[in-house]
Amino acid sequence: MEQGLELLGGGKATRKSVDPMSLKDGSRIAVIGAGPAGSMFSYFFLNMAEMMGLDVGVDIYEPRRFCHRGPAGCNHCGGIVSESLVQRLATEGIRLPDSVVQRGLESYTLHMDVGDVEIATPLLEKRIAAIYRGNGPRCSEPLDTHSFDGYLLELASEKGARLIPRLVSDVRRENDGMTVSCADQSSATYDLAVVATGVNSRLMETLESQTAEFARPERTKTFICEFKLGRDVIRETFGPSMHVFLLDIPRLEFAALIPKGDYVTLCLLGDDIDENLMDQFFSAPEVRDRFPGGEIPGHVCHCYPRINIRPAKPVYGDRLVFIGDCGSTRLFKDGIGAAYRTSKAAAKAAVFHGVSAQAFHDHYAPLCRRIDNDNRVGKMVFSFASLVQKARFARRGILQMTANEQQQTDSPQRMSGVLWDLFSGSASYTNVFVRTLHPAYIGNLLWNLVSANLRGGRTGKSGPSDGEADHVHH
Ligand SMILES: Cc1cc2nc3c(=O)[nH]c(=O)nc-3n(C[C@H](O)[C@H](O)[C@H](O)COP(=O)(O)OP(=O)(O)OC[C@H]3O[C@@H](n4cnc5c(N)ncnc54)[C@H](O)[C@@H]3O)c2cc1C
Repeated sequence: MEQGLELLGGGKATRKSVDPMSLKDGSRIAVIGAGPAGSMFSYFFLNMAEMMGLDVGVDIYEPRRFCHRGPAGCNHCGGIVSESLVQRLATEGIRLPDSVVQRGLESYTLHMDVGDVEIATPLLEKRIAAIYRGNGPRCSEPLDTHSFDGYLLELASEKGARLIPRLVSDVRRENDGMTVSCADQSSATYDLAVVATGVNSRLMETLESQTAEFARPERTKTFICEFKLGRDVIRETFGPSMHVFLLDIPRLEFAALIPKGDYVTLCLLGDDIDENLMDQFFSAPEVRDRFPGGEIPGHVCHCYPRINIRPAKPVYGDRLVFIGDCGSTRLFKDGIGAAYRTSKAAAKAAVFHGVSAQAFHDHYAPLCRRIDNDNRVGKMVFSFASLVQKARFARRGILQMTANEQQQTDSPQRMSGVLWDLFSGSASYTNVFVRTLHPAYIGNLLWNLVSANLRGGRTGKSGPSDGEADHVHH
């Protein structure tokens, strides 16, 4: 407990405490990690400080080199960003060049044992874009695309942040500052430590072991790999579409194949993805049929990164704040969007309200609470999706309703819109959930459940015939 107060600070937020801490000229800030959260924080912070005429130094600690191909430069991610986020960032002055954002994806194709359906982009601002977090997979040829994370870090550096290419091994409260120590034994003291290490970092364990009051985020293991198929094959077999699978595989919440140039990225999200789950996924006919000759090719690189499924507690202390994945993020979707929101809110709190626990409590924690509350609704939505995964009759109804909507584009796209926002993370889970309560949505779904199951066959754009459906073992 005593030690806990050391890390989080004695001034644990209470409404009554007075905040004596604000930044002044010459103050120094350490940002630990230059993923999207760390770099965007530095960018926003330096912008706002400049506006206030505040001369504050920002050091970003990041050992990774985003110009490297393979694991050394990669921050493990599907790399899907919604067009609305791309546009939002542009309004903040973060104009991602075409070499960073590929706007090649025009639709989602949903694959189920009962058939497939392609869901076209509902609106222009709802388009999805693909990015590479590093500079391409291991052993790949130099790409004509550039690293998203590298670009953001460059932007922060241009604003004046100093990059320190070191791994941070500890952060401790000492007197009136936060001491940041590195693996090479170097250390420095700062007025504020911004932890943006994501959830795949040992530092979170170290911080948790220092204090009984701090709990790092709860995590689960995912799987991600890259297949090299070549542009022409990808164009023919995948088209400009992200392929999403709704399969009856326990613990699998989301599976997608995302075409990117010569490569296709596979992302499996769920409850501790393991070999057994992957075997089931790769042996599913809906998955094999996606690949040329129905054969799953070897992948050029793979990893099992973790994702945050419950936020850190608390996400702030005196002179300390956790942003992005290592604080609060959106469940399964739009982690980059959450990194943007949390980094901006934390920067604003620090510049305009100071670096006390009270300032972060009042001006940063409410955003994290909103994200957490929305994730609770998200959990409910995913539980419902799990039921659909198990119920073939429900899959038939959903497939038929979506396919009908895609053919009659002038009628309301209720199911298509819900699925789009669920896959892309373009809308909050609460918004998606509320739309599923609309009487027209419920009525239409019920009608499709009945009629599709009376017909009993496969529907959809490119699904095989009824006979083939019988071969599916689920
Ligand atoms: C399989 C998978 C697929 C995903 N797909 C998507 C998607 O399609 N779209 C989307 O929006 N989100 C997606 N996400 C989520 C997204 O990757 C994260 O939400 C996002 O990367 C969080 O950004 P961050 O900056 O908080 O952390 P990270 O991106 O994890 O960055 C943390 C940085 O901190 C550095 N670091 C770590 N420890 C230390 C240390 N001790 N000292 C110094 N530096 C350190 C790391 O090297 C890294 O650069 C996916 C996640 C996974 C696992």
